[in-house]
Amino acid sequence: LKITLTPVKLKGAHQTGMVAVLEDVTEQEKLDRQRKDFVANVSHELRTPLTTIKSYLEALDDGAINEPELATRFLKVTRQEADRMTRLIQDLLQLSRLDAQKSKFAKKPVSVELMLEEAVDRFSFQCKQKNISLTLYIHERIPRVYADPDKLDQVLDNLISNAVKYTPDGGSVAVVAQEKADGMVEIGVADTGIGIPKKDLGRIFERFYRVDKARSRSMGGTGLGLSIAQQIVHGHQGEIEIDSVYKKGTLVSFTLPPVSGGNVHE
Ligand code: ADP
Repeated sequence: LKITLTPVKLKGAHQTGMVAVLEDVTEQEKLDRQRKDFVANVSHELRTPLTTIKSYLEALDDGAINEPELATRFLKVTRQEADRMTRLIQDLLQLSRLDAQKSKFAKKPVSVELMLEEAVDRFSFQCKQKNISLTLYIHERIPRVYADPDKLDQVLDNLISNAVKYTPDGGSVAVVAQEKADGMVEIGVADTGIGIPKKDLGRIFERFYRVDKARSRSMGGTGLGLSIAQQIVHGHQGEIEIDSVYKKGTLVSFTLPPVSGGNVHE
């Protein structure tokens, strides 16, 4: 709490008064701290791949370039790290557009069934490689949702890719859609993966928050996927939740508004 005292002299009065202004600085301080943390995180996340790239280039310079096998491996790492930086910058740009509400939502009626079928198809190859069974369950008569299809694709890609990423070979991932009692459409992505400890669950939607930074990085993660998904879902007046049992599996579900009035089931 910040208190500012300002002496005032009222017109015609002999006495000087005081005006006290009480300001709640805790909220401001919290925002300042978050902003500083964010900048520190971004710098760190960009510096890490740059350091790797630099050290591999130096190793090439120091002679590795003359050993074809080694050189090929080093170049591969260098390229992977550059790709990671590109992904990070894309995610950051997207978040900043969402923050500034510059990212327009081109909402229209969207068929949940089609959208989920396509999303699942995009991961079929990756799942086959990891021997993960990926199943889609759609309850009957799901209304169409009023949403931006491209943005929804991104939410689904982020959630399904997490589910696949954090599920060991041979596990399973399920995508489920149902209509809730209040009419909202709920989409859930469940996996039988490594799960998230209870103590981390409350912070998991924060930018750059990861349970295991090294693991997330080695899987190519930016730590921004869930934050982006949350922003997009909120932009649709929906809610997103995560529930998880450590070492057992995770369920992320979000809601979307149905198309209002008319032939909602078409
Ligand atoms: P990342 O790019 O690191 O995957 P996200 O924002 O998508 O970033 O997720 C944040 C963190 O939440 C991850 O680093 C991981 O620790 C945890 N997480 C997200 N989804 C899952 C999941 N399905 N199973 C286990 N952990 C998960």
